[in-house]
Amino acid sequence: MDVVMTQPRGFCAGVVRAIEIVESALQIYGAPVYVVHEIVHNQRVVEDLRSRGAVFVETLDEVPADAVTVFSAHGVSEQMIRNAENRGLEVINATCPLVTKVHLEVVRNAKAGNEVVLIGHAGHPEVNGTLGHFDRRFGGEIYLVQDEKDVEALHVKNPARLTYVTQTTLSVDDTKVIVAALRKRFPEIIEPRRDDICYATQNRQSAVRKLADRVDLLIVVGARNSSNSNRLREVGEQMGVNSFLVEDANDLDLSWFTSDLRIGITAGASTPEILVQEVLRKLDELGVDKVVEMDAEPEKVTFRLPAGLVNKLARKA
Ligand code: SF4
Repeated sequence: MDVVMTQPRGFCAGVVRAIEIVESALQIYGAPVYVVHEIVHNQRVVEDLRSRGAVFVETLDEVPADAVTVFSAHGVSEQMIRNAENRGLEVINATCPLVTKVHLEVVRNAKAGNEVVLIGHAGHPEVNGTLGHFDRRFGGEIYLVQDEKDVEALHVKNPARLTYVTQTTLSVDDTKVIVAALRKRFPEIIEPRRDDICYATQNRQSAVRKLADRVDLLIVVGARNSSNSNRLREVGEQMGVNSFLVEDANDLDLSWFTSDLRIGITAGASTPEILVQEVLRKLDELGVDKVVEMDAEPEKVTFRLPAGLVNKLARKA
């Protein structure tokens, strides 16, 4: 068997920053540090931080008084931010700056009295956080659509004041179809200033597209609840490649593999490289002849830690 490793794969700048925020908080304040929701969607990352003193909770009610609280990379609603302030909690916000951009767009449109269509997956924490930034007091409304059928069924108050934003980790191709359906149904729709699907999601999907004609089978290493990992598997399938999402090497199914197979490996933006290497080791045991890395420019995006945290770290040093 031959293996091609996609480039880029794995951690994005938002995930690196979110993990560093929890690590820094543990260094500054000591354990426990409370994190609302999984800091990023990956069990290995969560377990590692838990072993060092992070406590993961789903609601603010589970956070004791005076505890240090971190909001995950997916972002939270305005209401949760206010509740934390009202309780006087020390909050460090690890929301990815690219998710914050979408929040700001939603806030701006709400204040302008516009209506906003959010294209995204119901129940995903990022979607909940983004919906929770829309202030209806200015007369507008926000609607969640997941597919073309939702667009068909959508009724808005004023199509001339309608715009759209998207979840950052969607399939680029599927989103184009939904946006086309929105434009067809609401020809006056106001085009957003920028594309909300983030650079990391776009780059990982386009690497899978480039890889598709070189492999017979694609393994995506990523958590089952990771949106961008699921989208990578779907892109592989859409390109005609048998594609499987595995959390780690234990999920590999021997029946997938035959001799002379060309295997592609990629990883979602919240997957640590160690999990990819474990998958590779297991494949090696099955008999890999050659492993090649795709030729691609490395990503250069980095996000700074919150200034307050950097200052506290410097004082601690
Ligand atoms: S996948 Fe994109 S939006 Fe999500 S944390 Fe990474 S860079 Fe930010």
